[in-house]
Amino acid sequence: MKPSAFEYHRPETVEEAVTLLADLSEAELMAGNQSLSIVMANRLANPDHIIDINAIDELSHIDATGDAVDVGALTRHRDIEHSDVLTEEYAVLSESAGQIAGPTVRNRGTIGGSIGEADPAGNYPCVLVAMGGELELASTDGRRTVDADDYFIAYMMTDIEEDELITAARFPSDPFPAARTGMTFLGQKRAAQTWPTLSVAGAVRVDDPDAAEPAVEEARIGLANAADVPLRIEAVEAAVEGEPLVDATVENAGEIAYERVSPAAEMHADETYKRELAREYTKRALRTAYDRAIA
Ligand SMILES: Cc1cc2nc3c(=O)[nH]c(=O)nc-3n(C[C@H](O)[C@H](O)[C@H](O)COP(=O)(O)OP(=O)(O)OC[C@H]3O[C@@H](n4cnc5c(N)ncnc54)[C@H](O)[C@@H]3O)c2cc1C
Repeated sequence: MKPSAFEYHRPETVEEAVTLLADLSEAELMAGNQSLSIVMANRLANPDHIIDINAIDELSHIDATGDAVDVGALTRHRDIEHSDVLTEEYAVLSESAGQIAGPTVRNRGTIGGSIGEADPAGNYPCVLVAMGGELELASTDGRRTVDADDYFIAYMMTDIEEDELITAARFPSDPFPAARTGMTFLGQKRAAQTWPTLSVAGAVRVDDPDAAEPAVEEARIGLANAADVPLRIEAVEAAVEGEPLVDATVENAGEIAYERVSPAAEMHADETYKRELAREYTKRALRTAYDRAIA
């Protein structure tokens, strides 16, 4: 099927884009068009107006500001995957980008499109929630910041208004000094280049990587496709904080993840299987992040 007819707009600034959003009814933003094209081709969305944001240069950037990493909404998955600063200092983000679909989707798809789509299986939403990130939104009323926790409300439902545009995602780096922190993004896929059945974003900061038995000072665990929103499990984090990461602690953390997720059954993965994946991938993420923190 082909999309229904629409009028095409190509603003060059955020101000022009939000004015179009405010003035036009039945308008849809288009970024990388990797998800929107599928929805429109199936006539699950039939917007009268498409606002193509690809000419808005200010939306493409990766800025490390010292206490945070600021990623513009139009930044492509490929650029996030290959960013030197992210690979070295925020591996959970670059690794999450590198595991999205295949090269074609990664060359065009954007972080803003992924967060705009808000699929609970999405890689960036999971990283954002796990790391305590925030989003910057713009409209004709100005700009506002919203915590990732407040942004994801229910299945593919978010705090964004119809006249708002995501301009950037912000990931705090201050609590995660590279010398004492390990990060990882892991997922289980049935086949290459598909969406994962379940993913986990993990980070561990230790007190002293050179100590005989470094203790976990702070841990972060977020799961994708384990509930109807991206899920941070603070009980898992609390279970490993304050002590060196030994096998018994990791096993306990895995059991907590098994209990705390609320996954929806899918054709190839029933609820119990997804709980088991949550247990296993939580354990793997904690071990990998801890090993990287003390390496
Ligand atoms: C085969 C396949 C496999 C995939 N596998 C994965 C995967 O494993 N993990 C994963 O996370 N993703 C996966 N994806 C989705 C991928 O991340 C998409 O690229 C992404 O969801 C959409 O990004 P986009 O820039 O193409 O957005 P578009 O398709 O252009 O837009 C998607 C939605 O977001 C809205 N939007 C776009 N930009 C903004 C903005 N700045 N502000 C507000 N709303 C905006 C649009 O209006 C639209 O509703 C997969 C996609 C495909 C086709």
